[in-house]
Amino acid sequence: MEHQDYQQLLVPHSLDALEVSEARELEAHLETCAECRAELVALRDGAALLAYAAQPAEPRPEVRARILESVRAERTGDRSTAVLTHKVVPLRPRANWNVWTKGL
Ligand SMILES: [Zn+2]
Repeated sequence: MEHQDYQQLLVPHSLDALEVSEARELEAHLETCAECRAELVALRDGAALLAYAAQPAEPRPEVRARILESVRAERTGDRSTAVLTHKVVPLRPRANWNVWTKGL
C-alpha cells in the first residue's frame, strides 16, 4: 500500500473500525509518515467531539430497568446472569491511539 491508500484508512481507524491486520499495517505506516499522523490526530479530535454533540436523552423505562438490574447483578458478583439475560458485548481495548507519545 502507498500513502494514498493509507489515507483512506485514517477515518475508519480514528473510529477503531479497522480490522486488526489493517490497523497494524497503518500503524507501521504512521511511524514513518508525519502527514498521516497529523491527519489521524485531527480526525480523533473530531471523533471525540461527537460524544458531546449528541443531545442527552432519557433512556426508556425498560432500558433503565435492564441497566440497573445488570449493575445490581454485577455488584452481587452474579455476572453470569447479567451476561445471559442481556446481550453484553465485550469491547476490545482501544489501540494505543496517541501516536505522539508512543514509545515514551
Ligand atoms: Zn501517509
